[in-house]
Amino acid sequence: MAGGGLLSVEQALERLLAEADASPIEGSETVALGGADGRVLAEPVRAPIDIPPWPNSAMDGYAFRQADVTGEPLPVSQKIFAGMQPDALLPGSLARIFTGAPLPEGADGVEMQENAEVLPDGRVRLLQAVRAGQHVRPRGGEARAGETLLEGGTRLGPFEIGVAATVGRDRLPVRRRPRVAVLSTGDELVEPGLPLGPGQIYNSNRALLCAWLNRLGCEVVDVGVLADDLERIRACLASLSGVDLILSSGGVSVGEADFLGQALREAGELTLWKLAIKPGKPLTCGHYQGVPVIGLPGNPASGLVTFGLLARPYLLRRLGVAEVAPASFQVPAGFDWPRAGSRREYLRARLEGGQARLYGNQSSAVLRSAAWANGLVEIPEQRTLAEGDAVRFLPFSELLN
Ligand code: AMP
Ligand code: MG
Repeated sequence: MAGGGLLSVEQALERLLAEADASPIEGSETVALGGADGRVLAEPVRAPIDIPPWPNSAMDGYAFRQADVTGEPLPVSQKIFAGMQPDALLPGSLARIFTGAPLPEGADGVEMQENAEVLPDGRVRLLQAVRAGQHVRPRGGEARAGETLLEGGTRLGPFEIGVAATVGRDRLPVRRRPRVAVLSTGDELVEPGLPLGPGQIYNSNRALLCAWLNRLGCEVVDVGVLADDLERIRACLASLSGVDLILSSGGVSVGEADFLGQALREAGELTLWKLAIKPGKPLTCGHYQGVPVIGLPGNPASGLVTFGLLARPYLLRRLGVAEVAPASFQVPAGFDWPRAGSRREYLRARLEGGQARLYGNQSSAVLRSAAWANGLVEIPEQRTLAEGDAVRFLPFSELLN
């Protein structure tokens, strides 16, 4: 436990990942490469052949047999473009060759055309000493037949998809998309597009979370706002079927109108976690009819911090992704932090000129701070900082994908 009986991010994450390991998303489907971005590979991708399948030239130039290169001009016996199948290299000759073209049998290496002199009679003199193997990409240099190129549980992005294509795969087995029910609570919430009444605010978390979940490869079951009405909440929850996670925002804490919490508890169990972070202290976790529940705090900035730090890795782990921690790095603080806090702080910040600058208003209710920022700065508990001190920066590019 962190100070004051609060749960540290690490402790909360450890519990959530243990839950995730115990309830993996079962089932996979096969998708075309074009639809594989963001999905999680269900089985390893192996190279069925050596890559490259034959030695080929890394340069535009001349293929040579080393024993023939004496400094004397040599005739050019063939011209080999990429995609051609060459003849064996005639002894005592060179082959004109271009990048990516297969090396002819009998050739030892390639000299780049910049180091070659073409004589008026068409013969070519190589101007420097050459060494066997130079400017050749050997057969199997990238991968050997049978080698695993991508492990199961790999998150597929453009590069992984490209690697699958290098070994001729046009379809990939991927984990089924997790179905995540997104629900918001609060009588104050109005959907964008509708007029705002007295005391009301627009529901921003719903749009934010749906977009984020889509990026993470989830299928969103968009439940909308649950009015603070126990009967209707019960009916709505009961109607959710085939859902892998119930993700709520707002209200599942200790408020008086906590009907969602009540309805969830009737057929499950919920625990309120108090996290030693700011923003994002309250987080609710549990089960409803066997379906995992994560209740994010309602304040948008609290919700995005807890979703990014905890719910995102939890979801990825349920898909079998091993490495779920976002890559982060140290940057100089572009600000002073004179007052140490008792909870770890995650501040919306922007990298500018190699330093992390803070958004001026860090209220957890202010979402435009996150649109301005390009990451979160982490300030450890009980720490003060002066401008220029190193702080950990978690880029949104890591958290959002
Ligand atoms: P709660 O967690 O329900 O106590 O809400 C905390 C704060 O977040 C309140 O100011 C709510 O109005 C606000 N809030 C809750 N849900 C949302 C939402 N879906 N969109 C925007 N603000 C919200
Ligand atoms: Mg509320």
